[in-house]
Amino acid sequence: MAVPYLDLKTQHRNLEAEIQAALRPVFAETQFILGPAVESFERDFAAATGCAHAVAVNTGTSALHLSLLALGVGPGDEVIVPAMTFVATAAAVAYTGATPVFADIEPRTGTIDPEAVAAAITPRTVGVIPVHLYGQPANLTALTEICEKHSLFLLEDACQAHLATWQGKTCGTFGAAGCFSFYPGKNLGAAGEGGALTTNDAALAQKCRRLRDWGQQERYRHEVLGYNYRMEGVQGAILGVKLRHLPRWTEARRAVGAAYLQKLAGVPDLTLPFEAEGAHHVFHVFAARHPERDALRTALSAVGIQTGLHYPIPLHLQPCFRKLGYKAGDFPESESLANEEVSFPIFPEMTAAQIDEVCAAIQAFAETRATAAA
Ligand SMILES: *Cc1c(COP(=O)(O)O)cnc(C)c1O
Repeated sequence: MAVPYLDLKTQHRNLEAEIQAALRPVFAETQFILGPAVESFERDFAAATGCAHAVAVNTGTSALHLSLLALGVGPGDEVIVPAMTFVATAAAVAYTGATPVFADIEPRTGTIDPEAVAAAITPRTVGVIPVHLYGQPANLTALTEICEKHSLFLLEDACQAHLATWQGKTCGTFGAAGCFSFYPGKNLGAAGEGGALTTNDAALAQKCRRLRDWGQQERYRHEVLGYNYRMEGVQGAILGVKLRHLPRWTEARRAVGAAYLQKLAGVPDLTLPFEAEGAHHVFHVFAARHPERDALRTALSAVGIQTGLHYPIPLHLQPCFRKLGYKAGDFPESESLANEEVSFPIFPEMTAAQIDEVCAAIQAFAETRATAAA
């Protein structure tokens, strides 16, 4: 039996009637950009995260970019980001003219190491962007403390961590703002691109609303140079439907994660994801590690099991950031994770038979290696 990395088709088949009903008013009113469906989604998403405001935009990257602009980040500033994340976290910093400064990760969780953050602070540092990588919350207690001590902003990249919690509080509500992506493969995905930022700061929300819509509040009067970062009505309507299912999907993902952890415990050389004390990991990615991860991926692929890599090249070694002057060896934990990480299939609709199939193939790979070594 083939097992896909992610199965969006099953999810959308189950939601077809609900989505069609939600799209009808969008087309009837031809409210294709922002409009009532987007406003309604913003209210629901703010409530789901427990924030006063949610501002819907066209991508998670835009949510990061606008948050940084609204926080006043610009040329000459430094913002600390993890070396191991999707490129967007650091790209958003660079878009403002500021410099992304990388810090290494904690090996067990894959999230930014608070000690590395403290060591990277300079007089130019204005803020820190922790990433809740794979759906696992970063150590927000330690990071909040560091940011308060040094008067830095904390901006959460929660693009992989919808409804994740840290010490009982929802990710995206700890700092100045939380940034979310609704890229189709994320835990809450649009039928296209989408993003949002959440905040309790009314003035920050207002700035971001203006910036996402060409810097205008009054039509055709552009107070500041803005952007076309608006969410589409169709995406707002679809996200509104899918948000209602998100708590159930999140629990289903956690159940798949728990099943993998139980069934794969003790497989030689396989390091399984670690859930930190007080963290509610939402398993956007089930990220394991194996010293021969390429061979493992090939073996799984040969029996029809798709896997992913998150991510093969840490940001300090990306060609696009070459001018920042980093080199191999600068962030050993990030480099080691990049070399060993392998992502197993995970999605809320995954069946017990599919989980068993993946685990059996991983165990078979481990046995083949043991035999070869003997
Ligand atoms: C997906 C993602 C983003 C960017 O989101 P887009 O909606 O694709 O722009 C940013 N940061 C992280 C960690 C992500 O996973």
